[in-house]
Amino acid sequence: MFIDTHCHLNILVKKTFEDFDAPLTPAEIQHTDLIVKEAARAGIHKIVNVGTSLPESINCISLAHRYPSVYAAVGIHPNDLTDTWKTDLAKIEEYLEKKEEHKIVAMGECGVDKHYPGYNLHRQKGAFKRQIELALTYDLPLIIHSRDAAEETYQCLQEFKSPQLRGTIHCFSEDYRWAQEALSLGFVLGIGGTITYPRNEALRSAVKKVGIEKIILETDAPFLPPQFMRGKKNHPKFIKEIARSIADLLAIPVEEVERITTETAEKLFKI
Ligand SMILES: [Zn+2]
Repeated sequence: MFIDTHCHLNILVKKTFEDFDAPLTPAEIQHTDLIVKEAARAGIHKIVNVGTSLPESINCISLAHRYPSVYAAVGIHPNDLTDTWKTDLAKIEEYLEKKEEHKIVAMGECGVDKHYPGYNLHRQKGAFKRQIELALTYDLPLIIHSRDAAEETYQCLQEFKSPQLRGTIHCFSEDYRWAQEALSLGFVLGIGGTITYPRNEALRSAVKKVGIEKIILETDAPFLPPQFMRGKKNHPKFIKEIARSIADLLAIPVEEVERITTETAEKLFKI
């Protein structure tokens, strides 16, 4: 059994960006039914469906209620922060208070993103730190988004270093030095489709040094498809392709990648 530890089912079924941050329509929910079924047929029996804003976090919760195999992560993505982030997080906290009922297994995705010009670093850090606090208060792992911002991301996490601090660096894309920093803070590395990209030698080398015990598998669907699907929408069923390429890289059987990454994810998210 495989676990997709980072997927956006509710974004996967939306046709355009304009449809984002709205409740799912009956047609979109029907489409989600198919995706979850197809994933199960491909051996993916647990999915952590990750929130990016207040409305999308609520969508994640409603899908977690709908499918036994789907769990919710709630939080605000650094690129989706607006002036209402504080009240949005207060509303998210109301759900956290009933985290078992809502199958909330992680806080995120949250972090720092300096990729696109015009980012507001002050606001990003403020919202990130608040979400770290919430993860610690509600004893949840964090799902971290860090893009072109390793320095800032790890600085924020350092401030909260404690035995309770834990989580995954989603779509890990730094070098081995930052991988060690992540591990020392209690995190594992989320590895997805980017491991299959021809130009990603640095990531492959970091993964080789880190080893299979500190890795979990993710698709980030509909984003970041594996090489053979580039330019198309990613899907949780492609977890197997990622596992295969990690197995080749580490020269171990794919079944071992499956068993160990699944165990690590189950332990981290308590699923
Ligand atoms: Zn994501």
